[in-house]
Amino acid sequence: MDQLSDDRSFATAGKVQPGNSADMTALDLSRLITAAADTIADHAEELTALDQAIGDGDHGLNMKRGFEAVRTEADAFAAKPLPEALKAIGTKLVMTVGGASGPLFGTLFLALGREISADPDRADLTAAFGKAIEAVAARGKSQVGQKTLLDVLQPVHDALAGGMTAAEIADIADAAAEATVPMKALRGRASFLGDRSIGHMDAGARSTALLVRTLAHIIGDKG
Ligand SMILES: [Mg+2]
Repeated sequence: MDQLSDDRSFATAGKVQPGNSADMTALDLSRLITAAADTIADHAEELTALDQAIGDGDHGLNMKRGFEAVRTEADAFAAKPLPEALKAIGTKLVMTVGGASGPLFGTLFLALGREISADPDRADLTAAFGKAIEAVAARGKSQVGQKTLLDVLQPVHDALAGGMTAAEIADIADAAAEATVPMKALRGRASFLGDRSIGHMDAGARSTALLVRTLAHIIGDKG
């Protein structure tokens, strides 16, 4: 389990093909959405506490509200071809998460939907994810090293590109979120604190790592 060692592992997530596999796809994407919403709900208080330390404390509730809104329409999203589903999820997140994170997480899914094929293999996913990260960086006028979700997204992309297993990718995401602790925030509300932002994990980096572990667990155990 937890293997992402070949293309088939990723191809089974969000796969759209004629016949029965389209039904399977709907179930898979619905399951991914439900698991993501569960994870965010389970960790909402932790995310809030992280944001209270160096932000305005709204991250947990904002993310929970957004992912609950996506959960409500999980079956409708899952019935769409993967690119359309991702764009619809992104739009929903933009509308419902709010704060600073809504546009960033929304852009991630919107751009992923624009770039990905309906039946992606690992190489397709990696390329689309890279483009989506560029879109998030442009939207946030930020870059890696500034104590944001990009500090998790980029290592995850590199791990995908490097052929890591799902379990390894999840661990890399956790370590990357942990690595934001000693960073000084250079973007977002936390940057107002200057050096006082050092010593706390970025809330967006943590929520990103949580989502990566959740998705990797579900996608990975299909390989
Ligand atoms: Mg906040």
